[in-house]
Amino acid sequence: MNIVVDIPNYEPHRWLEPIQRALSEHRVFDAADLNGVGLHSIDAAVVGWSDSYRLDRFPNLRFIQSTFMGVDRLLRDPTIDPAVPIARMVDPDMPVSMTESVLAHVLFAHRQLDVYRRQQSDAEWIERDQPLARDVTVAVLGMGELGRMAAAALRSVGFRVVGLSRTGAAVDGVEVSTSIDTVLSHANIVVNLLPLTDETIGILCARTFAMLPVGSVIINLARGAHLVDTDLLDALSRGHIRHAILDVFTTEPLPAVHRFWHHPQVTVTPHMAAMSTPESCVPVIVENLRRFDRGEHPLHLVDRNIGY
Ligand code: NAP
Repeated sequence: MNIVVDIPNYEPHRWLEPIQRALSEHRVFDAADLNGVGLHSIDAAVVGWSDSYRLDRFPNLRFIQSTFMGVDRLLRDPTIDPAVPIARMVDPDMPVSMTESVLAHVLFAHRQLDVYRRQQSDAEWIERDQPLARDVTVAVLGMGELGRMAAAALRSVGFRVVGLSRTGAAVDGVEVSTSIDTVLSHANIVVNLLPLTDETIGILCARTFAMLPVGSVIINLARGAHLVDTDLLDALSRGHIRHAILDVFTTEPLPAVHRFWHHPQVTVTPHMAAMSTPESCVPVIVENLRRFDRGEHPLHLVDRNIGY
């Protein structure tokens, strides 16, 4: 099997080299250094985050392994033959990392630290009523690998957790619904962990904000295109949404002129809520390439029909 690794700005000694060591009977090439390599000889690709993967360079490609959990860019890429199976990354550390981010952001919102930060900038000493977590409802949009672990952690702190999924499959301790209207109607804090698909694009918008109680907080950790930026700015200015914590943006890096950067009711982080490390991803990549080579079903294949 011949494998190409196409991860922009990566460190080969942390990705390509350990893959090659584990698959010593196969050949692993760097996409940036394919001189002398017959492009038709490439069977499988390991790809990171790119605007265009140019995978049509490899006419005999039969398997794509993503190093990202979200594969929305891969599914939109016209250089990828829809018949080639794509596996997304599901490594053991990513849900742990995301759960830490969710806890940090939800507790920041719950303890009103956004409000106290604004008060501090005006040297205002005002103590505010503070409910306990048990009196607060957190809506987790997406009950997948990330949403389920985050929901369990939020439950352990005492929050009431309601969850949104496509199928409504039961999750311990979470009131799961397939209706976003139901999920949002009592939520004080919303955490978005949905995949970006035709159904979920723009899901955080004026219509859905209107379902939330006044003073709610939005935490978007999934994809920028889930959010309609102008609708959020409007809801913030009216106070309907008190604060937004945003890790992902339609254009990344977030352009310097974007209003989110200096908005007092917005917290911006640079798409870092959960990061892949080669140490946790490489074993998953190797396992899936071995499965592909043996003609077995790779793990975590994406269903193009539902978009995730
Ligand atoms: P996942 O395991 O595929 O789970 C997706 C969840 O969303 C499932 O519960 C699914 O429902 C639900 N869903 C999908 N379409 C829906 C719809 N139309 N209506 C309602 N629910 C729907 O995904 P994951 O691994 O948890 O990752 C989620 C997303 O997080 C990724 O796609 C990526 O965009 C984002 N992410 C962000 C970062 C970051 O650093 N900011 C890092 C990693 C991932 P079912 O359970 O019924 O299938």
